[in-house]
Order: sequence, then C-alpha cells, then structure tokens
Amino acid sequence: MAKQYETVIGLEVHIELATKTKIFCGCSTEFGSAPNTHTCPVCTGMPGSLPVLNKQVVEYAMALGLAANCKITQVCKFDRKNYFYPDNPQNYQISQLYLPIARDGYVEIDTQTGKKKVRIHEMHMEEDAGKLVHDEWDDTSLVDYNRSGVPLVEIVSEPDMRSADEVIAYLEKLRMIAQYLGVSDCKLQEGSMRADVNLSVREAGSEKFGTRTEMKNLNSFKAIAHAIEGERQRQIELLEEGKEVIQETRRWDDNKEHSYAMRSKEDAQDYRYFPEPDLVPIVINDEWIAKIKAQQPELRPEKLERYKKEFDIPEYDAELITESKKVADLFEATVELCGKPKKAANWIMGDVFRLMKEKGMEPEELKFSPEHLAKLIDMADVGTISAAVARKVFEQIFTDDVDPEKYVEENGLKTVNDEGAIREAVEKVLADNPQAVADYKGGKQKAFGALMGQSMRALKGKADPAAVTKMIKEILGK
Ligand code: ADP
Ligand code: ZN
Ligand code: MG
Repeated sequence: MAKQYETVIGLEVHIELATKTKIFCGCSTEFGSAPNTHTCPVCTGMPGSLPVLNKQVVEYAMALGLAANCKITQVCKFDRKNYFYPDNPQNYQISQLYLPIARDGYVEIDTQTGKKKVRIHEMHMEEDAGKLVHDEWDDTSLVDYNRSGVPLVEIVSEPDMRSADEVIAYLEKLRMIAQYLGVSDCKLQEGSMRADVNLSVREAGSEKFGTRTEMKNLNSFKAIAHAIEGERQRQIELLEEGKEVIQETRRWDDNKEHSYAMRSKEDAQDYRYFPEPDLVPIVINDEWIAKIKAQQPELRPEKLERYKKEFDIPEYDAELITESKKVADLFEATVELCGKPKKAANWIMGDVFRLMKEKGMEPEELKFSPEHLAKLIDMADVGTISAAVARKVFEQIFTDDVDPEKYVEENGLKTVNDEGAIREAVEKVLADNPQAVADYKGGKQKAFGALMGQSMRALKGKADPAAVTKMIKEILGK
C-alpha cells in the first residue's frame, strides 16, 4: 500500500495597518499615488534622519493581538534587521525580534471536522519596504518608496494547519478580525495582506516534523491553494524517490503552476539583528491595555447574536451577512433607513451577492449607498415599481449608485396601475394571437403562459402580474 502523508503548514502573514501616516514619519500611506510622492528623509533612509513612532500603530497592533487572544508584551522594543536591497534605502528594516508586541494567542477556525484552534506564536510590528518595478522592455528597474515605512504587523502562526482549506479558513478569520477592528482593509490584490507559506510533509502517524520550505508573497487565495497542492506533491515525490527536502525559500509561479528555489538556508542571510538605538522601548501599562479592550468594536460573534435578536432574521441570513464587515455595515444602514430587516437581508443575499459573484468583486469594492437600496425596498413595497423592475433598477444602483426615484422617473418605469392601459395592451395581445387564445380555451394551460408573457412584455414589465392575469381571464370570460 502506498504511504500516506500529512501536510504541515505554518504561516507568516503580513497585514498593512490602516493608519493615515507611516510608522516612523508623517508621510501618507495612501495606496496608488504617483511614485515617490509620499516620501521624506525618514522613509527614504537619509543619513541623520530619525524615526518617531506612530502611536496608532501600537494601538492597532494591540487591538489585533487582544482579538487573537495573545498576551501583550508590556515592555516591548524594536530591533534592526540589516540587509541590503534597493527597496530598503536605510539598509536595515526596523522590526521586532526579541520582544514582539504580542505572543501566545490563537484564533479558532471552522474545519470539516469541527472547530480548531490555530495557535499564534507572535505578532510583531515592522515597516514595509519600497516597491521595485522591473521594466523588461527598457531593461531597467525603478523603485517607488511610497510603501517604504507603511506599518505592518507580522503574524506568525505555529505549524498547526494541515490542508489548504485550513489555511484559507485561517486567513479569512484573520482578515475578518482585522476588518472588524478597522485596523486594515486586508486586500490581497493590493498587497495589504500577504502570506508566506511554510510547508512540510511527514508520514501519517509520525510525530516528527519534516523539513519545510517557505513560499513567499502569495497574493490570492487561489494562488495559495495551488501553491500548497503543488509543493505538497513536489515534497512527496522527493521523499518517495528517497531524496531529501532542502530547507529553502521558493517562489510559486501561479501561471506556470510550479515553484522554483530562490535561496536555501545555507546561504540565508545573517541579519545581524540588534536593538534599534533610535527608538526607546515601549512601556504598555495595564490601563492602556484596558483602554484598547474597552474600545474594541462589536466583533462577528456578538453581531450574529444581535442580528438574530434585534432584527429577527434567520441564523443562516445573519451568518452570510456578517461574513464581511462591509456587508454587515451596509445591511445595518439599510435597515436603519427602511426598517425592513428581512427584505434588506433578501436583497443582500440575493441580488447583491449574485452581482458580486458575476463581477468577481470583493465586499470592500461595493460602492452603492444604503440610502438607495432602502428607497428601492420602499418603492417595491408600496408597489410604485414591480418586483421585476426593482431588480433591474437595483443593477443600476449596484454599478452606478443611481437614485432609484430619479431613475424610475426618468425611465418611465413606474408600475402601470391604470386598468385602461392594461386592458388595451392585453386586448391587443389577444387579438394578435388567435391560436394561443383558441388553445387556452381548448384547455391548454401552457397557452395562458404565452399570453401572459406577451402581455407583460407589451407593458414593459411594469404592471402587477396579478392584475394582468385577472384582465386576461376577464376578457376571455373565465
Ligand atoms: P524561522 O526562525 O526560520 O523564521 P520559525 O520557527 O520562526 O522559523 O517558523 C517560521 C514559520 O514556519 C512559522 O509560521 C512556523 O509555524 C512554520 N514552521 C516551522 N516549522 C515548520 C515545519 N516543519 N513545517 C511547516 N511549517 C513550519
Ligand atoms: Zn516619510
Ligand atoms: Mg521567522
């Protein structure tokens, strides 16, 4: 029988904190600005410049640590990690090695076999590096220092995960916590959440961990899942051939679905860490921790309970809606305005989720305003527009955030309540379709559907279907 293998995975996750300014200077952290416009002597490593710690970074890191059940290190400090690379103008990164801000926590994830704790070894604060842009056409490399000095928290897990599904559940959990706390938007595509995957395999039943490799900078859940499957296979094949796995850093190429070695541990750099001399240790007293705890916003479990009680919506609805903070916020704002929780929930779980899926959008990209959804719900409710029209109008709200009242007015989409107009349209359809009328009179129910469909079309979907049904039956004398 073929040997069975178990996959062992530990993650190093970087989360960019949503502070307005960088960790050690006053430059903006805004993403997507023109290159090198958010820079100063500090974040470009000019000699003689000195870092000043952004207090908000410490508070966000504490909030994350506490939400992930960590112990806060009450005297913590920064260390210098020395290495030379063009995206790192100081030739060192200010990070934390000896006394990271938070340690020994866990988050709980849902797995196929129930709940599971993934332990967190530590969280530390550090600064991000700049970004190299390689221009292959010109055969040049350019560097953008806008990202240099953007605050990061690195979250190091214990090797507690056993599959790609568990890894993704863990990342989703971290993302949810960070988004609920408002400390990061965690956009994988923009790099505000990045994961390095450490993976080894061992024979099922074995106590000892195998040699691991590390795959860096995976920027989508799909790439992560592919990389894990590919690397697991590669390592198993090596072991089956009687070879050894080399501890090394590998880069996963999601296009080629293959990973290749970047550097091995033997020539791994000695970073010559030493205490950062330009920053004093951070002393965190009990009051400060208590203050951060007290500020902690409602997280998902409490929100779930409140939705069921306060809004009386089913557990299933509450779970889907609270999966993302952004969606939950939209839902609450809509309910606040229209006072119809179940209807708001139906719109979100129906058309909002459908359109998001069709367009491949993340919740953070939603840009319609709750005012417009609330108005639409009201309009459909009092019958100003039909259900079919409401769904069409919602597509416009979803993409362009139109005001439904204006849109309906301008496009003449109001429900036709006028009996005369309905009669006129139905009479014309019946006159144009003598065969269908005869079939229906002869007992064919199907023919009614055809007449109904044509009448609704003639009325541009704006009439109440019940009124149209009634009219057809009345005219045909049934
Ligand atoms: P280093 O000091 O070399 O960075 P760490 O002990 O800090 O190594 O571990 C880095 C990451 O690798 C952690 O997330 C940890 O869970 C994971 N890890 C450690 N050993 C293994 C292993 N044998 N298999 C898979 N992951 C591992
Ligand atoms: Zn700066
Ligand atoms: Mg490490």
